[in-house]
Amino acid sequence: MSKDCLFCRILNKEMESKTVHEDERCIAFEDINPQAPTHILVVPRQHIASLNEVAAQDAALLGHLQLVAAQLAQQRGLAESGYRTVLNTGRGAGQSIFHLHLHLLGGRGFRWPPG
Ligand code: AMP
Ligand code: ZN
Repeated sequence: MSKDCLFCRILNKEMESKTVHEDERCIAFEDINPQAPTHILVVPRQHIASLNEVAAQDAALLGHLQLVAAQLAQQRGLAESGYRTVLNTGRGAGQSIFHLHLHLLGGRGFRWPPG
């Protein structure tokens, strides 16, 4: 828990979110400024600022976030059409909230390479 962290406040229910999944290791909620018809953030309960701060002991947690994203994509019928999971690390890559989170985006086409 970091008292200045927006996502910690959401995790503590001090702030509202449209939660779509909760388990002992993470929650997932709708992004407030969606960039695709489906735009969900999968957020670990543990406050880790970014991928720069992870350690070997976090490997299972990182895998879990991807598995939850895949399950949500399945539930929303995105498995066939395709979807994207994105983890921005550092301001130069577009990270604006320094509590690690995985974006799940789907429901439209995506270009490669990303902008
Ligand atoms: P990033 O830029 O990768 O750090 O992603 C942060 C994401 O959090 C952005 O897509 C924002 O739209 C989203 N966001 C910011 N505040 C909230 C909030 N209160 N509830 C849900 N999503 C949020
Ligand atoms: Zn946090």
